[in-house]
Amino acid sequence: MNKILRCPCGQPHYVSSSQAGQQLTCTSCGKPLTVPTLRELRDLPDAAATVSQPATSTSVWKTWRGPTMATFVALFLITGGMSLRFTLQRLNIDTSYDEETEIELGEQLFDQYGPDALSMTWEQYQTVGIGPKQRLPFMVWRTIAWHTTILASVTGTIAAICLLAALAVWYSARRAARRLQDDPRRPAVDT
Ligand SMILES: [Zn+2]
Repeated sequence: MNKILRCPCGQPHYVSSSQAGQQLTCTSCGKPLTVPTLRELRDLPDAAATVSQPATSTSVWKTWRGPTMATFVALFLITGGMSLRFTLQRLNIDTSYDEETEIELGEQLFDQYGPDALSMTWEQYQTVGIGPKQRLPFMVWRTIAWHTTILASVTGTIAAICLLAALAVWYSARRAARRLQDDPRRPAVDT
């Protein structure tokens, strides 16, 4: 066990029992300092008891805060990235195309055809599917757009919660570091 030997100038020196009776040179004032005998050494304060964990701002991260912060930041990056992807996907879907556009286009088409071609086109439409037979592409795209919006908002919300949680952990670490500064001997464990 290391002991603390204080020089008359105030500088502490850490000495072990193997150094009993030896001469030291103070690192602060440069004067010689004699380490006491083994018996006297026992009465000196323990180095471990007085010098607990150094009160650094990093020690507050060595508790639950480090892993918790890492988890929230990782989750934020993952869900945030997903949300961004879904948002970009949604923006790429043109939903301005609706029933009215479809009808308009259909009418334009009918104008171009004569009666024969029209009946043929009508039959084609029936097989390809207008109405209840098959969903039209713009309807399918609208559903995809809706789903993408939901996915973007859900992942975005999770990302926001993770960001807030990470900020809360960071704030708690800052407060704990400030408490450590006030009282360095107080261990970095926590509230
Ligand atoms: Zn000294």
